[in-house]
Amino acid sequence: MAHTVIEGTTRETPIAKAWDVERVRKDFPILFSTAHGKPLVYLDNAATSQKPRVVIDAVQEFYEESNANVHRGVHWLSEKATAIYEGTREKVRAYFNARSTKEIIYTHGTTEGINLVANAYGSKFVSAGDEIVISELEHHSNIVPWQMLCERTGARLRVAPIDDDGQLRLDAFDALITDRTRLVAIAHVSNSLGTVLPVDEVIRRAHAAGAHVLLDGAQRAPHHRIDVQALGCDFYVCSGHKMYGPTGAGILYGREELLDRMPPWMGGGDMIESVSFERTTYAALPAKFEAGTPDIGAVAGLSAALDYMNGLDFDALSAHEHSLMVEASRRIAQVDGVRLIGTAKGKAAVVSFVMDGVHAHDVASVLDFNGVAVRAGHHCTQPLMKRMGVSATSRASFAMYNRIEEIDALVAGLHEVRKVFKTEL
Ligand code: PMP
Repeated sequence: MAHTVIEGTTRETPIAKAWDVERVRKDFPILFSTAHGKPLVYLDNAATSQKPRVVIDAVQEFYEESNANVHRGVHWLSEKATAIYEGTREKVRAYFNARSTKEIIYTHGTTEGINLVANAYGSKFVSAGDEIVISELEHHSNIVPWQMLCERTGARLRVAPIDDDGQLRLDAFDALITDRTRLVAIAHVSNSLGTVLPVDEVIRRAHAAGAHVLLDGAQRAPHHRIDVQALGCDFYVCSGHKMYGPTGAGILYGREELLDRMPPWMGGGDMIESVSFERTTYAALPAKFEAGTPDIGAVAGLSAALDYMNGLDFDALSAHEHSLMVEASRRIAQVDGVRLIGTAKGKAAVVSFVMDGVHAHDVASVLDFNGVAVRAGHHCTQPLMKRMGVSATSRASFAMYNRIEEIDALVAGLHEVRKVFKTEL
């Protein structure tokens, strides 16, 4: 039996008592669904989280009571919509502890945020011979925009390796940081492995060499308050839909001094100061980076999601999610022929695994039939899969509303997979 045991999983882990998971679950209507006649066990939170009733209501309420375009109208409804849109920006600023709302740009999600930086920062600060450093565990959206930038500019992409547990090799990272490094773009937490990267060290070392740092916080921001000033990063990106908000609203934090020096990326309405055929001047921050009509309804939902998150006891939440990770890792690893992929110390609540002789998609399909939703595939991290020596994994990713009992359903499903595929072999 192939076993990989994560540190801390060999002893009984006390289940976080302070977190009232049953009370939290009541806020999420979809959790009371059945899938294939079985109670839904939703373990695909790294892909997108479910939405509490208050978020669903806020989106509906926006369209029923406040829908108008923002900024451009002098009428009552437009002012109401603008107040929601700009008021949410202040909530985002507070959640991320940015200095100013000028540093908060709405995007559609992490992918757009990274593309915005790759284009706008790239066209100002990156030229032939410069280097961008990423890591081996990045999501495709933190790889491809940099490859495209390198193609356009003649810059070079350098990739910092990870070890067999899925941890960044800081020694090798150091060796890549030179006076040619312009930007380090790195995940805060890996979506495929759950590794929490040593971002304080990364930022310290990159800044010492005069490089800027972008953190891909897609998997961190839903689980922790983020303090961009304490981190000292130059850019931070994340997706509202993984933070219990609707799809369509994401966040880019950028240091004002850098955003100010960057040219706009997309041109159009709302991002200008004045336009003539001879010369256009651009709006001040943050409007300079928000061309066209944004997803105002999604921002209204994000506002409710942030209110919801601000009401949470994050210490109790972290303890709960950690318990889920430890318990799931321990029990999944005990299933015959199962191997965990990603065994970093102090990892987040993401558990990836493979089962000998069974494709990850087949594992996920049998689990689905049992009502258990996990993701299978390369998780938009093909280079990482190659590094870990697998083509795909099955991944269970946890959120605030998952119960420890749901791991029973997951593990029972895995035993069934084992049975089905043993018979077939
Ligand atoms: N980076 C990471 C680490 C992610 O987990 C994801 C989503 N899986 C993304 C980027 C892309 O996010 P989105 O699709 O919301 O733009």
